[in-house]
Amino acid sequence: MVVKPSFGGPGAYLIGEEEKQEILDVLESGYLFRYGAEDDPNFKKKVYTLEKEFAQFIGVKYAVAVNSGTSALLCTLAALGIGPGDEVLVPGYTFIASISSIIMMRAIPVLCEVDESLTIDPKDVERKITDKTKAIMAVHMLGNPCDMEAIMDIARKHNLAVIEDCAQATGGSYRGKRLGSIGNIGAFSLNIFKMITAGDGGMVATDDYDLYERAFAFHDQGHKPLRMGVEVGQRSIVGLDFRMNELTGAVALAQLRKIDRILAALREKKRKLKNLLTGLSGFTFHRINDEDGECATLLTLIFESKEKAEAFAAKIGTKPLAYSGWHVYNNMEQILGKKTYTAYPCPYECPAYGKKIEYHAHMLPQTDDLLSRSVNISVGVVDKGLGSPFGITITSSDEEIGQVAETIRKHVVTLRG
Ligand SMILES: *Cc1c(COP(=O)(O)O)cnc(C)c1O
Repeated sequence: MVVKPSFGGPGAYLIGEEEKQEILDVLESGYLFRYGAEDDPNFKKKVYTLEKEFAQFIGVKYAVAVNSGTSALLCTLAALGIGPGDEVLVPGYTFIASISSIIMMRAIPVLCEVDESLTIDPKDVERKITDKTKAIMAVHMLGNPCDMEAIMDIARKHNLAVIEDCAQATGGSYRGKRLGSIGNIGAFSLNIFKMITAGDGGMVATDDYDLYERAFAFHDQGHKPLRMGVEVGQRSIVGLDFRMNELTGAVALAQLRKIDRILAALREKKRKLKNLLTGLSGFTFHRINDEDGECATLLTLIFESKEKAEAFAAKIGTKPLAYSGWHVYNNMEQILGKKTYTAYPCPYECPAYGKKIEYHAHMLPQTDDLLSRSVNISVGVVDKGLGSPFGITITSSDEEIGQVAETIRKHVVTLRG
């Protein structure tokens, strides 16, 4: 089988026999719910196995499988008890879900600058801490680990929790530790544009049993982990339903078992592409906080000027990162306009908060400047929304890598003239 997709992340390009076998295993058993009787041979325990293998892979004790990365973020915030009146520091360059999940927990997102790594700037984080700050959401944007040493130092100094948004960085690491195992708790996504995919889905990972118990409860109506024991009378908090089903679990499991292969292939292809671009001037590669640990899903070029970035981007059929409607705070009209689903702009008028927060376009000048000069080339994530419709994929041959490098070289050279 294997139909080559025309967009998506590396996992989407590797859907094959393994996913098919896992899915058939579930379908032929006729049992699709994540819980079942231990002794029932038709209960294939895909979600349960995924949670075990994922936790082991990340290097933490616990994982909860959920139905999306957004749900995973909601669970991390709930686990930490973040709610009305609490401020969470979050970068202005991230997928909108990082910010909207904070708002939906009735907390206040405080937007921070990104630095040359295009991840949250620790200096700005420190500047924006107030007595209401509860957590830092460190988004490993574009598969690049945040400067976790600086972030963890700040968190310890100010007694803040750290949530790692690893949606774009499953499998990445920072100084030898997997992303998602460094802060208090991590959130992951399995949507089509991510490292591995089940169409949709998400994971929560943590080493802390109390956070696990609360994340689990929030994702399943307040139940104790794995609904063990007598539940009625034992439920700790009010929860919702963000459960993953066995079909999703089956595909996610097959994909997780490919992740080492994916990481190795992307890193090798990125190295080849980068090597073919050496000697070119007019741009720099964006700073990677851990060269060995990044996911290598994208190659980001930062040009000297906005004009050059726009001219180059136009040549390869894309736009600089500043234009992304889903990843740049300037283009998130519902966030800037505080348009929540209620008639009044709660949580911004929450009495527990007691002060006024304002958002406006161009409030993060350093972020705006960097994004206006940055252009993404795909190494393994072909995503128009992320500004990376052009580039290579995890299945590209050396010849295709050479052609893409040649196209880049040709257009960069003409910019100078
Ligand atoms: C994709 C993404 C999410 C949300 O994941 P979904 O599975 O789409 O809900 C959250 N944060 C970041 C940084 C993302 O890229």
